[in-house]
Amino acid sequence: MQGKIIKGIAGFYYVHTETGSVYECKAKGVFRKDKQKPLVGDNVTLEVLDEEKKLGHIKAILPRKNDLIRPAVANVDQALIIFAVTKPEPNFNLLDRFLILMEQKDLPCIICFNKQDLFSEEEKQELYEIYQKAGHTVLFVSALYKQGVEELKELLEGKTTTLAGPSGVGKSSIINCLQPDIQMETGDISEKIERGKHTTRHSEIIPVNETTYLVDTPGFSSLLLFDLEKEELAQFYNEFSEYEPECRFIGCTHTHEPVCGVKGALEKGEISKVRYKNYCLLYEELEGKKKY
Ligand code: GDP
Ligand code: ZN
Repeated sequence: MQGKIIKGIAGFYYVHTETGSVYECKAKGVFRKDKQKPLVGDNVTLEVLDEEKKLGHIKAILPRKNDLIRPAVANVDQALIIFAVTKPEPNFNLLDRFLILMEQKDLPCIICFNKQDLFSEEEKQELYEIYQKAGHTVLFVSALYKQGVEELKELLEGKTTTLAGPSGVGKSSIINCLQPDIQMETGDISEKIERGKHTTRHSEIIPVNETTYLVDTPGFSSLLLFDLEKEELAQFYNEFSEYEPECRFIGCTHTHEPVCGVKGALEKGEISKVRYKNYCLLYEELEGKKKY
């Protein structure tokens, strides 16, 4: 049988199979010989030891598509970055950091702005254009009024999506909207998972259906960029590229140079002020890091 590791706690792995069951598998002794440590998100082959008690044994880890460090999870297809349009005000600098970190991993990003009920059409349009131009999928939803949920479900269907976002933006409310209608068959395992929640901060995968999974990560408020040179930063501001041929200097940093296509576009309103400001802030940060 084949399945996916949805949680690892206290020496056990929990494997969700195509049939919708979750099997508890002992971690001890697994793959000691090839030194491969199973990760949440790993697709595995499984031997059922006891169908009634839902006990199993992991036989092999199937090849990984990728693995992330934060959250520690394998085989992620895309990232869903959740912010509220307001309450709390979006931290656009944090949003850019998320986008860069995900793009470094070649993960496509969906930017989901929740609480759209608190925003006018014009305000939404302005936000939409900024990030759409930057090459990302932008979606407005309201978890409270269940708006945009079907569209969101379509974007997630058949994929493993890692969720990210600061606390208070409505992440839990959105997850609740996406919860499966069918109750999973888990035996007494769910109780153990519940208990584990309070003792570990490991990543957890939430099965939405047989092929759709969400990776929930604890909320956070800051993110450091790493493995990035300041010269590489502009690559992650996709909307800059069409203006770069107008820069006078090769290797223009778009910060202080006199004739700069990016700054020109900024003045004409073709590049967003918010995006440019955060580019400059992150550039300075990366420049500062170098000195150490
Ligand atoms: P989390 O910390 O990101 O998990 O956020 P919660 O799901 O706990 O929601 C934080 C607060 O925002 C709660 O008071 C929710 O009722 C509220 N909230 C969530 N979604 C919406 C929404 O779509 N519109 C509005 N107006 N409030 C929302
Ligand atoms: Zn330039």
